[in-house]
Amino acid sequence: MDHVSHPEIREAVARLCARFPGEYWRGLDRDRIYPTEFVNALTEAGFLSVLIPEEYGGSGLGLGAATAVLEEIHRSGGNGGACHAQIYTMGCVLRHGSAEQKARYLPGVASGEIRLQAFGVTEPTAGTDTTRISTFARRDGDRYIVNGQKIWISRAEHSDLMVLLVRTTPREEVKRASDGMSVLLVDMREAVGNGLTVRPIRTMINHATTELFFDDLSVPVENLVGEEGRGFHYILDGMNAERILIAAECIGDGKFFLDRGSAYAKDRKVFGRAIGENQGVQFPLARAYVQVSAAALMVDRATALFEADQPCGTEANMAKLLASEASWYAADQCLQIHGGFGFAEEYDIERKFRETRLYQVAPISTNLILSHVATHALGLPKSF
Ligand SMILES: Cc1cc2nc3c(=O)[nH]c(=O)nc-3n(C[C@H](O)[C@H](O)[C@H](O)COP(=O)(O)OP(=O)(O)OC[C@H]3O[C@@H](n4cnc5c(N)ncnc54)[C@H](O)[C@@H]3O)c2cc1C
Repeated sequence: MDHVSHPEIREAVARLCARFPGEYWRGLDRDRIYPTEFVNALTEAGFLSVLIPEEYGGSGLGLGAATAVLEEIHRSGGNGGACHAQIYTMGCVLRHGSAEQKARYLPGVASGEIRLQAFGVTEPTAGTDTTRISTFARRDGDRYIVNGQKIWISRAEHSDLMVLLVRTTPREEVKRASDGMSVLLVDMREAVGNGLTVRPIRTMINHATTELFFDDLSVPVENLVGEEGRGFHYILDGMNAERILIAAECIGDGKFFLDRGSAYAKDRKVFGRAIGENQGVQFPLARAYVQVSAAALMVDRATALFEADQPCGTEANMAKLLASEASWYAADQCLQIHGGFGFAEEYDIERKFRETRLYQVAPISTNLILSHVATHALGLPKSF
């Protein structure tokens, strides 16, 4: 099943990850600590700037290079969630920012000097219905004054800049609900304590996610990305890349569980023989292999379309759905094969099991993907 794409990147990432074994991730997971050393190592090796054009200091590679990086991190037993957004959040500035914004920020993002890995969209009352966000930026001369609340904003404490989606015109005053929203670049170094409060949320995984409270936060108008009122469309633009990259992480997780599950099934002897000699143990592993392989093909397909600048919304969504379900099935079977040891921290199975479950909910939940496929691929009526 091993991909042939970007073998040199895969090997280099695998070598780097070998310096950060299960023990490292386990320790951080226990105390919910950010993997600073790992993120620094990836930054120094240039793996977080693969998508940034060379003129801004990145390597200017296609999306496939980024999928290779994230898949290998996850296959090694690590987790790219601490920094995956550093790879793609800059896409909003790259595609829609002014020449001045690109020149000001992208070289720093490429070198890692600037962390641009917080992405503020979700709100507690709006949920997935993004057009109902109520965080509002009121224009006041050359500033926007922001009030409202966001939830599940990951890495906010580890970011210098945040891409923030706000309303600039109330929903009732726009023709289409998706109009009247704007993207602001918030400088976290100035904002925190000056109108922005960040409150960490402890979750079942080590993901550095937070709640944000805006209380008259002042943001210079020059930090508006693109045109006022077009923000929702800019955010949508970035979602295909995000979904494909998250799907690649799931493929990496799936391979991790298959590697570990197969090794344990060969090694563990019960009733005088390896448990892997029993078809009752083999078949779930074989099924997981089939599912991960099929999902990987869909990730490749979506990546190829994305790289060719072709429409790929449905494929990106399908890749994410298939990959997140395949990794979860593989996780469940791997845990089962490990018997009681699957529950022991030191095997890393229970941690990865918890971690891979996220991807059926975030960045987009399975039902919302099914709804996209139903209406876009099958032409069924919209239900909301
Ligand atoms: C660890 C973590 C990190 C996150 N990081 C970020 C981040 O950095 N930035 C950010 O902006 N967001 C982030 N999120 C938010 C994430 O994108 C949302 O949680 C996710 O999109 C689901 O939205 P929700 O939680 O509001 O669920 P809801 O929209 O409340 O939905 C709840 C459930 O109902 C289902 N549902 C809702 N409407 C329908 C319908 N019409 N038909 C069928 N089913 C429906 C959904 O599929 C879901 O299963 C993160 C979330 C988590 C848990």
